[in-house]
Amino acid sequence: MTDPSPRSGLRSWFSSNGRLEFCITLASVTLLTGACVALILVPRNVGPLQLATDEAEVLDTSEGTDNPRLSPVRRDLQPYGPILVREVAESEALLVAHPSHRADLDALEHQLGPAISDVSAVWGTDWNRAPVVVVASTSAEFTALTRSAGSTGADVAAVSLTGSYVPGTEPADQRIVFNPDARRRVGDEGLATLLRHELTHVATRADTIDGAPLWMVEGFAEYVAQRDQATTFSQIAPTLTTRLRAGTLPADLVSDADFTGVDAAYAYESAWSVCAFLADHYGTTALTTLYKRLATGPQSPAAQDAAFTAVLGTSRAELVDGWRAWLRGRAV
Ligand SMILES: [Zn+2]
Repeated sequence: MTDPSPRSGLRSWFSSNGRLEFCITLASVTLLTGACVALILVPRNVGPLQLATDEAEVLDTSEGTDNPRLSPVRRDLQPYGPILVREVAESEALLVAHPSHRADLDALEHQLGPAISDVSAVWGTDWNRAPVVVVASTSAEFTALTRSAGSTGADVAAVSLTGSYVPGTEPADQRIVFNPDARRRVGDEGLATLLRHELTHVATRADTIDGAPLWMVEGFAEYVAQRDQATTFSQIAPTLTTRLRAGTLPADLVSDADFTGVDAAYAYESAWSVCAFLADHYGTTALTTLYKRLATGPQSPAAQDAAFTAVLGTSRAELVDGWRAWLRGRAV
């Protein structure tokens, strides 16, 4: 992400694509709990009086400020001013924003419950459905809160911080951070789409090991985010649609490198379309099974072939042919 050219590509894509978002999944991030432990071990001040001021003031809350899950968030947000806190009904999810983003908090409060249900409809309910969702008030705050993800900057709309995953353990803290401009840029529906996308990363984190193919990881998240919405193919995938209308069909599944280059928009859309095709042709259960198989870490071409055969009963070539034929019917 140090090369400025991909950045500008992402920026233009983000600006031109109202419904979609660019998100970064933290495939490998510093554990948030690790950061919090560091804060506890090396307090800037000692003594109960000073410690109290190390946490952001809570101006308005639907949840008691004694909720232990709130303390790490209050510490991280303390430099950026007072906060508002909501606990979402029927879930222990926490929403946090500063007063300048009260409208975003209101929108997310309405969206979070349905979004959790939408993700569970595909993935099942066996996941931590109580993330902490934070809306940053400034770019500086967003950058600070997501620095551990190895991102980012103003181009990124949201980041899910779920920590590095150790097989056999639960991912630690699970937090989604929104860019302060996200809702302004993509609107309420776009915000809900972003939320479903990031929640899918949270839901799948326990089954996702760093290095898994991004076409599967990002395509699946975007498939869940876009599923059953009143959006058309060309609205979801404008870059892909343009290429299809020009007569250019994908030659293969997108590579991981494509997700960080100038073609990042196309990579996300292409990955979404593969997963949409798989769900359409083989069903969402097969798609989810394939995800669980391929998300277990880096996959060689041979390993991917074996997964396609085992889960779908098809070869990679047949899968790509089927996907291309499916795309042909949508390039209108
Ligand atoms: Zn993502």
